[in-house]
Amino acid sequence: MEAARPADGSLPPVLHAEQAAAVQTVCGALGGFAAFLLQGVTGSGKTEVYLRLAEQVLARGNSVLVLVPEIALTPQLACRFVDRLGGGVALLHSRLNDSEREQAWQRVRLGRDRVVLGTRSTVLYPIDHLELVIVDEEHDTSFKQQDGLRYSARDLAVIRARRAGCPVVLGSATPSFESLRNVEMGRYRRLWLRQRAGGAQPPEIRLLDIRDQPLRSGLSDPLLREIGRTLAAGEQVMVFLNRRGYAPVLACYACGWLSDCPRCDARQTVHRGQGLLWCHHCGSQRPLPTQCPVCGSLELHPLGQGTERIEQRLAAEFPDVSLIRIDRDATARKGSLDHLLEQVHAAGAVLLVGTQMLAKGHHFPRVTLVGVVDADGGLFSADFRAPERMAQLLVQVAGRAGRGEKPGRVLIQTRYPEHPLLQVLVREGYEGFARAALCERAAAGWPPFSHQALLRVEATQAERPQVFLQGVVDALAGELSEGVELWGPVPAPMPRRQGRYRAHLLVQAGRRDLLHPLLDRLLSIARALPEARRVRWSLDVDPVDGL
Ligand SMILES: [Zn+2]
Ligand SMILES: [Zn+2]
Repeated sequence: MEAARPADGSLPPVLHAEQAAAVQTVCGALGGFAAFLLQGVTGSGKTEVYLRLAEQVLARGNSVLVLVPEIALTPQLACRFVDRLGGGVALLHSRLNDSEREQAWQRVRLGRDRVVLGTRSTVLYPIDHLELVIVDEEHDTSFKQQDGLRYSARDLAVIRARRAGCPVVLGSATPSFESLRNVEMGRYRRLWLRQRAGGAQPPEIRLLDIRDQPLRSGLSDPLLREIGRTLAAGEQVMVFLNRRGYAPVLACYACGWLSDCPRCDARQTVHRGQGLLWCHHCGSQRPLPTQCPVCGSLELHPLGQGTERIEQRLAAEFPDVSLIRIDRDATARKGSLDHLLEQVHAAGAVLLVGTQMLAKGHHFPRVTLVGVVDADGGLFSADFRAPERMAQLLVQVAGRAGRGEKPGRVLIQTRYPEHPLLQVLVREGYEGFARAALCERAAAGWPPFSHQALLRVEATQAERPQVFLQGVVDALAGELSEGVELWGPVPAPMPRRQGRYRAHLLVQAGRRDLLHPLLDRLLSIARALPEARRVRWSLDVDPVDGL
């Protein structure tokens, strides 16, 4: 099928066979509800598929809803829609002011803008003649609203498509386990893109065993050597660590003092650049001390590393190379991310250091080496979703490498190179990983093989959440049916945050139709308890964090 000439005058790229097949299948389903999982390896050209589909729907005189994770982090996708489709694209995100929002609303209402592209709340936007819903990076946790009205924009997008009687396309290189399960159950149809666009080779991924390696600010000699070699060849390198700041904790070697946050069960992070100790959970700050606040010793040492420390180390190792750090601190000012990205695209040999901001949707064709400083955090977390998140992040980061003519390499530093999940990820990629990890979930009875809801409670007095939750448990105890379990009350993983004590009760059921009647009962019990007035509580159905 013919694609329209883009608004910028260039010719659209030729589709590879899998892309063409995906476009044809979804177009064939226009006019009725159908759910598709577009599972495409990074660099396989999912965006081009979205664009062709949007063009088809526009040609039929109808409208398209496109949901993206966080618009500030995916400017390239938004730009491609605008460049290609010209006017007629409404971009909706949290940084619009009221009059911009009002204008966008008018344009959509009058049918001038028939592509509505935005972050999660856009799923509720009124759109006439909706004929296609697209959710890009459907695995991204930012689709879940975490406070107030808690909802999953991805799940609502599927419901909305069903109501509108139109197809929904969920796209990802690393689909959520929920969506993979829906494919398995026949609820979603999978469209594969296994081949990279433009014939680029997939990156080669290797584990770097750092058990007996001396580390310099977390970087091993083999990794530093590879970085040096790649830069010397005039190519670009990306070093990834998902922790901003200089170091996650400051410690006194004389008395053992640690930089505890006064309001949370967490440490304040060392931020050297700003001269601060800063809690990433509640935002509390204090000046970076030069002496121990308890014993007065000067033996204060930052422990562990963040991107700031990695940057400092790399600057010392490679003084002649331009170094660009991309994380929330370095991009806090509006427009600074775009500015940094321009520098990357303009320069030759560049060393990029960053957090997950680097993993999201950006295209760095000249990066041929990605170094992952630490993959181990996700392997041993108490959160059963941590391995899924780790694999998604590693695959997304790896996908930044070698999108140009030269193949990319990914080196992952780990102290657990034999870990079965890491092994399967390296050998078989995300697909094999997901298969293995889903087996573990099935054996443990965790979602997506069960359904959960979390009753979260917090209060300024330590015992109140427990008392409230115990009241709920006692009242519910007689009404539990087969196949429904209550776990708790237990303290939250971070029992105190922002000066409030937190606990929760987990409700789990094998079937959703068993869960919901119980939740109705639970809500009426919770509302009626006298303790309810002394605590803050909320019910989170399908929680994705804080378990
Ligand atoms: Zn001390
Ligand atoms: Zn705090």
